[in-house]
Amino acid sequence: MKSEFITEKQSDIDSLILTFFSLIKFINPNLNKEQFLIGTNDWLISKTENVSKKIICVCTGEKIKNTENIFAITKDEALYFAKKITLAEKSSVKGISEIDGYKEDAKLVDFISNLKIFFNDKKISYLPEGYSGLLLLSHDVDYIQTNIMYRLGRIYYLLNYLRLGKFKMFFQKFIHFIQQIFLEKEWKYVKMLEIEKEFNITSSWFFFSRITKNKKLFNPNYELKNNRVVDLIQKIKNNNSEIALHSSPESAFNSILLNEEKAKLESYSDEVIFGNRHHMGRFNPKISYDIWMENEFEYDASFLTNDKFMDISSTNHFFKIFNTSGTKSIIEFPTQWMDVQYLNFLAYDEKKFKTETFKAIDNAHSNNNVLSMNWHGIPYDWYTDFYREVIDYCVQKGFLICGYRDYLEFIKD
Ligand SMILES: [Zn+2]
Repeated sequence: MKSEFITEKQSDIDSLILTFFSLIKFINPNLNKEQFLIGTNDWLISKTENVSKKIICVCTGEKIKNTENIFAITKDEALYFAKKITLAEKSSVKGISEIDGYKEDAKLVDFISNLKIFFNDKKISYLPEGYSGLLLLSHDVDYIQTNIMYRLGRIYYLLNYLRLGKFKMFFQKFIHFIQQIFLEKEWKYVKMLEIEKEFNITSSWFFFSRITKNKKLFNPNYELKNNRVVDLIQKIKNNNSEIALHSSPESAFNSILLNEEKAKLESYSDEVIFGNRHHMGRFNPKISYDIWMENEFEYDASFLTNDKFMDISSTNHFFKIFNTSGTKSIIEFPTQWMDVQYLNFLAYDEKKFKTETFKAIDNAHSNNNVLSMNWHGIPYDWYTDFYREVIDYCVQKGFLICGYRDYLEFIKD
């Protein structure tokens, strides 16, 4: 267990407390170990007499008084937040929050904003100097061309409304889904890469790595050796962008399978793979975290957090997840905005989709947040024009735009 803070009793530290601390440390990376204390009331008071630095106190007993330099929280509260952000109490995540019953936690939102007020830093420390926000840009490559599975998939989404008992929505959204069946064939990745090159920005590209054991009906079915994929990977590398793994839902339960998928993508792309995101955001918090760490990923982005009724989790920040012994960790970057959530499940039309997207960007801008966006290159005729508009808007607003790998370089301890 790392000693990243001062504790009265070593036994008060577990993987959840470490996660809680990582969240605070990402909000204020300048915090050193003397500024994070865990212990009983009397011990904390003795340790915080005449302090001149800002201190976070986790109280194992009764809460001590907050002052200008002391931010106190009970251990139960700290554990509550850590459990919320790591989904520790969920046994399985299906990528649809309506089913998972997940809602944005108001206490957690308040806590993060109070913490920012407490630190009162003019400079937001998780943003590189001179920027007002950060756009973490990523793409999931689920389809190369519109195929029969994609078209059938639209019917699957439509039928989901019936499964969830949303009969009114079934009829309201019927036309939307029928129109989607007639989408163009070519997916828009190349055009998007050209736009990124023009703006001189990087992004992260999540590829599915197809092997015998993950050939499933709802998984992407392109091969990495396909010429279009080979060309696409080369174009991404030419842009200095990142290749990451869009792992199968099955590999979230099977470390050997995840290892095979990663190894295959590494060999085809000739790149080191740092990042993981499970297709459809499916994993099991009780099983998958150890599997991600065993496979030496530096980060995961499988948490989906649009904060719409389809989403599985929500905290507009990133944090570390630790293994039980506290010896290994992985950074979780929750994905806050996903085009398919608006366009598929919510069945937004072009106009509403655009409005909601700008709303998400404006919100990130006014709160100096890290906004992570995940695009799928869907072949609507207006799609790439809108992509350019979004990138341009973020640049105008003063965002830094990059992929996960490039941002990791900035936040490394
Ligand atoms: Zn996917």
